[in-house]
Amino acid sequence: MLQRNYRTTEELQAADAAHHWHPFTDTKELSAEGSRVIRSAEGIWLTDSDGNRILDGMSGLWCVNVGYGRREIAEAAYRQMQELPFYNTFFKSTHVPALELGEKLAEITQPQFNRVFYCSSGSEANDTIIRLVRTFWAAQGKPEKSVIIARRNAYHGSTVGGASLGGMSAMHEQGSLPIPDIHHIRQPYWFDEGGDMNEVEFGLACARALEDAIDTIGADKIAAFIGEPIQGAGGVIIPPDNYWPEIERICRERDILLVADEVICGFGRTGHWFGSDHYSFKPDLMAMAKGLSSGYLPIGGVMISDRVAEPVIEHAGEFFHGYTYSGHPAACAAALENIAILEREAVVDHVRDVAAPHLAKRWAELGEHPLVGQARTKGLLGALELVPAKPERRRFPNEGTVGTICRDISFENRLVMRAVRDSMIIAPPLVITTDEIDELAKRAEKTLNDTHAKLKADGWL
Ligand code: PMP
Repeated sequence: MLQRNYRTTEELQAADAAHHWHPFTDTKELSAEGSRVIRSAEGIWLTDSDGNRILDGMSGLWCVNVGYGRREIAEAAYRQMQELPFYNTFFKSTHVPALELGEKLAEITQPQFNRVFYCSSGSEANDTIIRLVRTFWAAQGKPEKSVIIARRNAYHGSTVGGASLGGMSAMHEQGSLPIPDIHHIRQPYWFDEGGDMNEVEFGLACARALEDAIDTIGADKIAAFIGEPIQGAGGVIIPPDNYWPEIERICRERDILLVADEVICGFGRTGHWFGSDHYSFKPDLMAMAKGLSSGYLPIGGVMISDRVAEPVIEHAGEFFHGYTYSGHPAACAAALENIAILEREAVVDHVRDVAAPHLAKRWAELGEHPLVGQARTKGLLGALELVPAKPERRRFPNEGTVGTICRDISFENRLVMRAVRDSMIIAPPLVITTDEIDELAKRAEKTLNDTHAKLKADGWL
C-alpha cells in the first residue's frame, strides 16, 4: 500500500490546520476541532487514520457510485497516463478516450443528445451551460433572450456562474452574487413549503411559479430554465410526480430551453441512467459530473441536444469557451471504465430492482421514530426530517443546530450521514447490498435514538 502512515493523527491534523484551507468550512471552528483524516476505502467502507471503519452513506460527495477500491478504473487511468497523459482538445485536436467517451455518452443518454462538451466539474458544466444557452439564442437573432430561471435552495456549483444559478442565499451574500439575468423561483419542497396543499396541488403550484415568472419577465427575455431532477445539496428534495411534466410543458409552450442538472441524479442514482429518464422529461441540455467517473478522477460534461447544437454550429462561428482539461485523457479513460462497470454489473438495474426498494422499506421504518417528521427516498437518495413534535411539520429552533448534533452522533456511530439544516440525508454507493442497507439503517436508528436521548437531556424536547 502506498500510504504515508508514519505520522500520528494529531500531527496530520496540525499540518492540515496550518496549510490547508477547506471548502465550505468555518476555518476557525475546524482548526479548534481538527479534521477527520480518511486514509483508505473499500466498497462502501472508509477507514480513518485511527483505523476506524466508517460506512460511507454519502458516496464521498454523492459521487463514488461504483464504490471504492475499483482496480479496473485505476488501471485504465494508469494505462492511459503511460500512453498519453495529456493532450488538449482545442485547435482541431482530439484523442481516443475523449472521442470514445463521447460515443458512449451519446449511446446511454436520450436520443436528442449526440454531443458532449467536456470540463472537469459540475460547476464548470453549469458555467458552460450559461454561455451556451445565451449563444444559442443569439445565434438565432435573439440576444435579448438571456435570463435563466432557477430555483431557490438549488445547488449548481461554486464558481461565479454556478453559485449564481444556485439558490443558496448564504453563497450569494459572499461576493455580490448572483450575476445579472438569473432569476429564482420557489422550490418544490412540500415538507417545508407545502402548507395546506396536498402534494399534487403543491407540485402544480410550484410549476406554475415558472409560468408566473415567464409572464412577469416576458418569454422573449428568457433563455432557459434549469433544475436538478431531485435537489441534492438543498436537502434531497423529491418533487411531486406531476412537477417535471408540468415544467416541461411550460418550457415547450413558451419556447424556453429546459436544462437538467444531472450532476447528482446522473449515472444510476435514481434507478435510471438519468433523473430526467426517471421523471420522463426531455431536457435540451444536461450537466454531468460526479458519477461520470464515480469521482475517481475529476471530469464533467454538458450533453448538448441536436436542437441546441445545430443553430450554434451553423451560425455562431467559434464558441469561445473551453478548459485546459476539457476531455482530459486519463479522466475520460476512468469515466469509460466506470461506465463499463455500471453496464457489466448491471448496477442501474440493481438500484432500481433491489437496492432502492430495500432502502425505501428500511427508511419507512425509520419514519416511525418520534424524531422523524418525514422519511423519504427516491432511488438511493434519502432524507429524514427531524422535528420536535410530529405529526406537525414545525422545525426545531435555531435551525441547523439539531441537524449538526445528529450528524456528529452519526459519525460516532460510524455512519456518514450529512445534515442539511435539520434534515439528515444519505446517498450511498449504488453497489450497496441489502445486508449493507440493513447495517446502514441500524446505525441510522441508533443515531436517532442517541440524538433523541441527548435532546431530551439538554432540554430540547
Ligand atoms: N450541480 C449539482 C446538482 C451538484 O450537486 C453539484 C455538487 N454538489 C454541482 C453542480 C457542482 O459540482 P462540482 O462541485 O463538481 O463543481
